[in-house]
Formats: sequence, C-alpha cells, structure tokens
Amino acid sequence: MSPTTVMKINQQNQKTLKSIIGCSGIGLHSGDKISMTLHPAEVDSGIVFRRSDISGGGVEIKASFDNVRDTRLCTTIGDENGVLISTIEHLMAALAGAGVDNALVDVVGGEVPIMDGSAAPFMFLIDCAGLVEQDAPKRVVRVLKPVVVSDEGKSASLLPSNEFSIDFEIDFDSSAIQRQSMRVDMIDGVFKNELSRARTFGFMHEVEALRAAGFAKGGSLDNAVVVSGDEILNEDGLRFDDEFVRHKILDAVGDLYLAGGTIAGHFSGVCTGHSLNNKLLRALFADASNYEWVNASDITASEPAKAANSTSWDREAVAAIPATA
Ligand SMILES: [Zn+2]
Repeated sequence: MSPTTVMKINQQNQKTLKSIIGCSGIGLHSGDKISMTLHPAEVDSGIVFRRSDISGGGVEIKASFDNVRDTRLCTTIGDENGVLISTIEHLMAALAGAGVDNALVDVVGGEVPIMDGSAAPFMFLIDCAGLVEQDAPKRVVRVLKPVVVSDEGKSASLLPSNEFSIDFEIDFDSSAIQRQSMRVDMIDGVFKNELSRARTFGFMHEVEALRAAGFAKGGSLDNAVVVSGDEILNEDGLRFDDEFVRHKILDAVGDLYLAGGTIAGHFSGVCTGHSLNNKLLRALFADASNYEWVNASDITASEPAKAANSTSWDREAVAAIPATA
C-alpha cells in the first residue's frame, strides 16, 4: 500500500514572514557559495526573487509561471533582459507548504542554494522566522475544468477540487526505484512531515555527463541521492523507502506555486517533471474558463466542489481526457 497523504485550504488570510532570515549554501549547478535572505513582503505582492548581486539595486523577478525560462534539471525564472535565478523549486515548495503568500527572496547569485537537496532546511528557516497573518484574504486559484498536458508517456493534469491534493506515479528501470506511487492531501503538516525531507536524486551516469557539460558542479552525496545501476551510493541510504516519488511531489508543489497562489484542484502526475509542470500552468491560464481567482474563505465555505470531488477522479478518468499540449 502506498501511503496516503491531501492540502485543505483552511488558511483564510494572507501570511508573510515575521522576521528577516538568511542562509548560505552551495549552488547545485554553479558550485558557487551563495547567500540568500528571506524578507517579509506586503499584501498581494506574492513571492518575488531579487538578484541583489546585480548592480543598481538588484533585479526583481516575480515567481510566476510565465517568467519560467528554463526547465532542464531545475526550474529557472528570468526577466526580459536575461537575468536568471535557477533552482527555485524546493524553496517555492517550502513557501507553499508553510502557507507563505508574500515574501521577498534576496539571492546573491544566480541560483538558490541547494542545501541538502530537500525543502527541509527552508522549512526550518521559515519556522525560525515565524509567520504573521496579514489583513487581506488569501487568494486561491480554483480549477474549474480538467486541464491535461502530456508528452511521450508523461502526463500532468489538474482537476476541479475544493482542496489541493496530488497523486503521482514514477517508473524507473533501476531496481533501487522501480515503480512508486503516492497520493497526498495537502492538509496542515503533511508537506513538512511527509514531503519536505525528500531529497533530489540523480543517476551516476547522468552526473558524469552533466559535469562534463559544466553542470552539477556543486552536486554531491551531501545534497542528492545518487543511484548507480541498482544501487544507492549514499552511505546512510534513504530517508523514506519511497523518497523518490516524495521528492517528485515536492517538486510539483514548488512548480505549481508559480501559479501565483495556492491551487484548489487535484494534480495528477505520471512521470512528469519541471517542463510539463510549467506547460500545465500555461495551459491552465491560457483559457479563462479553466479557472477563477477566489478568496480561500469562499472555498472552505462552499460544499462540495463546483465540479467533481477530488476523490472521484482516478488515473483512468484522467487518461480519458484529451491533452491540450
Ligand atoms: Zn527537486
């Protein structure tokens, strides 16, 4: 049996950090030492990154799906002048999981530090800073119609629901991973307890190729689970038996937070990654009849969802919906 974990949207008002907090670490791809500071931010500002190493007061880039510039290896956002910030997804996942609506993320460099390859260090930072409720209703993107994108056996979909829930399935040749599936209801504490500690992973043969191409210079067994053939190279093994699928869900939580708010909908992923997750958001927002922005309080008060309840959807039903991209 795969563990069952769903996010009830019971937060009524927007939240931001109570205080400023920072950390430093290694950039996964550059190998550079990078410092990052999280700041409180005003109501309705969302999550904004700032490259403060760029002269003239820095460059701000909003964490939005339409600012995504690259989805190979990680999620990279950028502005129209080519200023980029990479590997934002694990921090975005932590901000989503902790219910942070507004924050300014100052990064002295082109990458969010990889830390231990999971979202747990960012959850710790957010916990240390504390949260403060703001005087404005939390805004939520409610999915009104099924939206599906697929590509060569991979698919990602969003279905109407009053809650944020995810099911995910992966399938790898390595017997260290094989087929793993998990369903999570993103209620309070689930992200922190079930997902945040799951680390990113890679395959030894890919790591070698990436290094040769100048990527993953900061990658090591300290910040990734590395699989070689059918073996896990990390001495301490895994944090969860199914750490791989848990990390893929963590990535999806982070990528989906680029919607600009919490999603009221059920996400279903089959072998999907950053690229398809971003295509899914672009497909969602490409048609105004797919979604509506509502106050979180309107959702918790309404019963049941406008369309189907999330539990009535399954993979077969999703597979029957034609993909839009
Ligand atoms: Zn990841």
